[in-house]
Amino acid sequence: MSELAYPYEAPASQALFDRAAAVTPGGVNSPVRAFRAVGGTPRFMVSGTGPYLTDADGREYVDLVCSWGPMILGHAHPEVIAAVQDAVARGTSFGTPAEGEVALAEAMVERVGPLEEVRLVSSGTEATMSAIRLARGFTQRTKVIKFAGCYHGHVDSLLAAAGSGVATFALPDTPGVTGAQASDTIVLPYNDLEAVHAAFAAHPGEIACVITEASPGNMGVVPPLPGFNQGLKDACAANGALFVSDEVMTGFRTSRAGWYGVEGVVPDLMTFGKVMGGGFPAAAFGGRADVMAHLAPAGPVYQAGTLSGNPVATAAGLAQLRLLDDAAYETVNAVSAQIQGLVTEALAKEGVAHRVQTASNMFSVFFTDRPVVNYEDAKAQESFRFTAFFHSLLSSGVYLPPSSFESWFVSTAHDERAVQRIADALPAAARAAAEATA
Ligand SMILES: *Cc1c(COP(=O)(O)O)cnc(C)c1O
Repeated sequence: MSELAYPYEAPASQALFDRAAAVTPGGVNSPVRAFRAVGGTPRFMVSGTGPYLTDADGREYVDLVCSWGPMILGHAHPEVIAAVQDAVARGTSFGTPAEGEVALAEAMVERVGPLEEVRLVSSGTEATMSAIRLARGFTQRTKVIKFAGCYHGHVDSLLAAAGSGVATFALPDTPGVTGAQASDTIVLPYNDLEAVHAAFAAHPGEIACVITEASPGNMGVVPPLPGFNQGLKDACAANGALFVSDEVMTGFRTSRAGWYGVEGVVPDLMTFGKVMGGGFPAAAFGGRADVMAHLAPAGPVYQAGTLSGNPVATAAGLAQLRLLDDAAYETVNAVSAQIQGLVTEALAKEGVAHRVQTASNMFSVFFTDRPVVNYEDAKAQESFRFTAFFHSLLSSGVYLPPSSFESWFVSTAHDERAVQRIADALPAAARAAAEATA
């Protein structure tokens, strides 16, 4: 690695990281935060406002992670904060039904056509885990098809070829997941309908569902090829399986109605998280009413949660959804396109082979000159160039996801000043990427 890799120290963050490492495995509560893919000191953030984060050393960054998607209005949006303060003042958890959770479910159902009923949970992992259980309970079948490079949270049966977090750490499979759990999971290459048809033919009457990221962002951004999602839907319908579209990342981000709103393919079940929680732990799964009717207490498939539909989380999510009108998506899409253009311009000027891949306002940069349509392609990129690019930008006050297998995220708060900081930082970062060696 060139000497540009760690251009400066972050002593306050390093001191916190040392403290954290003494009491928490690897010093973090979610692996990608540890910077292991890029090296250096993870930045401990103390505050966020609009498009900026400020770290423990007092340095300000333009944030291109946005909490991995949720902060689509930027940090500490005044109206979201006001809704949260109002909710907190009325109590933080009741363990009873409350109106806020109804209002959030109504807002989601109103925006997403195929979403007839929803059940609220607290994380995307819980949403996909519950959707899989429901699909199995509904179809009385055991097997699940997923795609290499798609991440659906750390659900045991779905932690096979699971993209970013696992990709970053090059763990082929995680210890702790039993053979029995993994053996009911069929992992296929993304964007390969032939493989899906072959799997259905090989396992007649056994496949409960196909789960896919609506448009994958967890191996970097790898959108579905035209017809792929519809082909999945059709294959499921022809074989008595359910089509589960994981919109935890894309939901309410890629359009008002998520990726469904972009492509229009109707799933049987959908999962949500990230944006719908407004920065709080709220997630959901839902879809066809006849399928959801199998969920307890209406039906026999058990699912529950002490903090499900939490009044503070639902207030934050609802406030955020209310602010996400067509104009807001236009703003996010426009700033995303502007940053994509700046990145391409800077890298092209230095002759760095790269591809910017997009799914609405989600995008990522692959250091390769070939199209990336699946996880094998994503892994073939020159990630060492990303490392140099990342650290150069970090040193200039631009905070990218610390891995080349992640989507970048922007918000309505990314204004001209924030974009200018990125534009100013890019030429040196592109040079660092050009000069990097494996
Ligand atoms: C983030 C994510 C999850 C997991 O959500 P958590 O809230 O982190 O458990 C599941 N699916 C997709 C597509 C995601 O991006």
